[in-house]
Amino acid sequence: MHIPDIIIAIDGYSSTGKSSFAKVIANDFSFLYLDSGALYRGVTLFAIENGLISDDCTIDVPELEKALDSLDIHFGEGGTYIGDRCVEQDIRSLAVADKVSPIATVSQVRSYVDRKLREFGRKKRVVMDGRDIGTTVFPDAELKIFMTADTDVRAGRRAAEMKAKGMEADIEEVRKNLLERDYIDSHREISPLSKAADAIELDNTHMTMQDQMVWLKKIIAERFGC
Ligand code: C5P
Repeated sequence: MHIPDIIIAIDGYSSTGKSSFAKVIANDFSFLYLDSGALYRGVTLFAIENGLISDDCTIDVPELEKALDSLDIHFGEGGTYIGDRCVEQDIRSLAVADKVSPIATVSQVRSYVDRKLREFGRKKRVVMDGRDIGTTVFPDAELKIFMTADTDVRAGRRAAEMKAKGMEADIEEVRKNLLERDYIDSHREISPLSKAADAIELDNTHMTMQDQMVWLKKIIAERFGC
């Protein structure tokens, strides 16, 4: 199957398997995979470690904005980096998950991340996952997918993923965090999580990865005639 030079935007609720799906797509189609959530998580880790967000999630926006000018978050071998430090494991902690949605409401943070993401998208052949990729970052993406899944299934998947990485994961805490993030992400003022009018919905509650790839290839064949 010849895959055309397109951008695939995948948005949806927390832990619906967006990044797992996007990674498999990238591998199968030889596309670049970009995890936009990792950039928000990177900014959040930086803010926590530098005292720019308090326990009750009060954010020092002026200081954070200043710091963003020189903050070097990028992708490298093994995942996400801040400068030379690989932070892939640290950004997946519950401590970061607890504070990332408030950080992602800050307009300066969103502009910082959007700028980075758009640079990667210039050459097409990119699959990107997040919350506002099809609505804000790449409103002209040729293919937009909006993912959903049952909440208990999502919490179970995320807890299993964390345990597999050797992290502690209480399923109730994970479930609470998912629902809190979904709420904040869907209700924020700037670029809230929402399904783009031209996005195709995928509920993968009862689907395997293979089912999802079959679903996707059928859509691509129909839409692009390949
Ligand atoms: O995708 P992931 O769960 O790692 O994203 C972490 C958080 O980053 C989300 O809950 C959301 O608050 C924020 N985010 C966002 N817009 C994106 C991607 C992530 O606001 N495009």
